[in-house]
Amino acid sequence: MKIDLTELLQKVGNEADLAEEITVSWPEDSLTLTKPIRLDLHLVNTGSSVLLTGRAETEAELECSRCLKKYRVPLAADLEEEFTLDPVRQGAGETELHAEDFASPIDPDNSIDLAEIIRQDLLLALPIKTLCQQNCQGIKGEE
Ligand SMILES: [Zn+2]
Repeated sequence: MKIDLTELLQKVGNEADLAEEITVSWPEDSLTLTKPIRLDLHLVNTGSSVLLTGRAETEAELECSRCLKKYRVPLAADLEEEFTLDPVRQGAGETELHAEDFASPIDPDNSIDLAEIIRQDLLLALPIKTLCQQNCQGIKGEE
């Protein structure tokens, strides 16, 4: 999913709101979605970067770790991402960037691709333990 930033980049301080529904398909081993992703995004041109905040909501199909039954859960992730305007960082130290904070680049055609970012954030939002219900008894007859 690509977002065109041409207009936003024209002036420092420009902001944009975006509400969209997107349908994606990722390899099944990573995440199976049963609904389109509802996106609510806010973009700000800070001068040195474009800050994206927002929320992604969808529904995922998971497999119960006890009975192996497939079940669906609502899945939501808060998005927060920084896109650097200039790949060469100037004035290092001005921004509170740690080594693990990875600022994504903006494509030469002034667009950003959100699909991978959203995928990562949704994966992080997945429950650690997948249970179809709190007291799932597992597969009957097997211990
Ligand atoms: Zn179960």
